[in-house]
Amino acid sequence: MPFSSSHNAAKLRFPAEDEFPDLRGHNNHMAKVLTPELYAELRARSTPSGFTLDDVIQTGVDNPGHPYIMTVGCVAGDEESYDVFKELFDPIIEDRHGGYKPGDEHKTDLNPDNLQVRAGRGAARGGRGGRGLRRSPLGSQGGDDLDPSYVLSSRVRTGRSIRGFCLPPHCSRGERRAVEKLAVEALSSLDGDLAGRYYALKSMTEAEQQQLIDDHFLFDKPVSPLLLASGMARDWPDARGIWHNDLKTFLVWINEEDHLRVISMQKGGNMKEVFTRFCNGLTQIETLFKSKNYEFMWSPHLGYILTCPSNLGTGLRAGVHIKLPHLGQHEKFPEVLKRLRLQKRGTGGVDTAAVGGVFDVSNADRLGFSEVELVQLVVDGVKLLIEMEQRLEQGQAIDDLVPAQK
Ligand code: ADP
Ligand code: MG
Repeated sequence: MPFSSSHNAAKLRFPAEDEFPDLRGHNNHMAKVLTPELYAELRARSTPSGFTLDDVIQTGVDNPGHPYIMTVGCVAGDEESYDVFKELFDPIIEDRHGGYKPGDEHKTDLNPDNLQVRAGRGAARGGRGGRGLRRSPLGSQGGDDLDPSYVLSSRVRTGRSIRGFCLPPHCSRGERRAVEKLAVEALSSLDGDLAGRYYALKSMTEAEQQQLIDDHFLFDKPVSPLLLASGMARDWPDARGIWHNDLKTFLVWINEEDHLRVISMQKGGNMKEVFTRFCNGLTQIETLFKSKNYEFMWSPHLGYILTCPSNLGTGLRAGVHIKLPHLGQHEKFPEVLKRLRLQKRGTGGVDTAAVGGVFDVSNADRLGFSEVELVQLVVDGVKLLIEMEQRLEQGQAIDDLVPAQK
């Protein structure tokens, strides 16, 4: 239900065409969808907490494109944003999430037992009759599903938003601090392998912070123009921090792009272990929040509701850091990734290029697939990438391994 607000009144003094951003040099999902007519239709609206159309699109206006990924170009400021500005968000969501329609329902599966890691690529095609893949000797000893001579590390992350609080692009300092307090209280109840502690950014030295970033445990400093333009970096480093267990295999980022980012990671290719820890930890965190009468933002259509529309649904990015010096330079690499529904990044995060033939390869989808399905896609896809890399090492062709276009 759209709301109007006096907050917007100043801009409404001018005709819509005088306020319409110049998007002619832009290449992001928002710029593709936002026409002058749609801008005129939506610009007087505001969510109950006062988030307006211009707040939604600012990051996409200031960031025409991105060198490595196709960005969405807009953010939500609160749970209601997706509803109040649905005429803008729905087509963007459809475009970004492979044709996901406004009437579609999302599914959740956080049962790690449903992940098939031993059956080889055949499992992804709905049968166990595939050729299967040789298991690496190291892998079978170490319990790795993905050959650790190629896969350096495995990671699964998602975000969660706490209902009743504005999201990072729009929250007040007080809200942000309240989210931090709630999260730290809840996380302090985790025990066993998950027991850990909170490190506020404010209380870290510069060197400690840099070490955590370099070791891939902590979010980058607020240097990304995507983050800055959306308003998420306001008041940095106030109320930001990282909670992690002693082994640094289970980590929770607080108040970066989302209220919570929950991460499970470890060296090597044991994605099953990573995903199992992820599911267990996440379920415990949800229960702890519920016991304090807080729930996560969620809807049957959008799944878990997060700041960036690209993360709706599962919010899940399962990925590996993988050495692909041959395949990484092959002309078919981008096409292969696309057909496997995978995405590549550099190993320093979304704003970095790949160096030395090592890539961050992860699922491209988040919405309309369950968590288990997405991790399965990554496990099966990565096995195929390794097989291709091995072929190329031997100077052999990979054409017969390239998946058919769906
Ligand atoms: P996201 O926001 O999806 O969590 P980013 O691309 O912003 O991911 O990266 C955040 C941090 O996580 C970076 O330091 C990156 O190197 C690290 N990271 C991502 N995937 C892996 C992985 N498979 N193994 C180790 N570190 C990873
Ligand atoms: Mg990020």
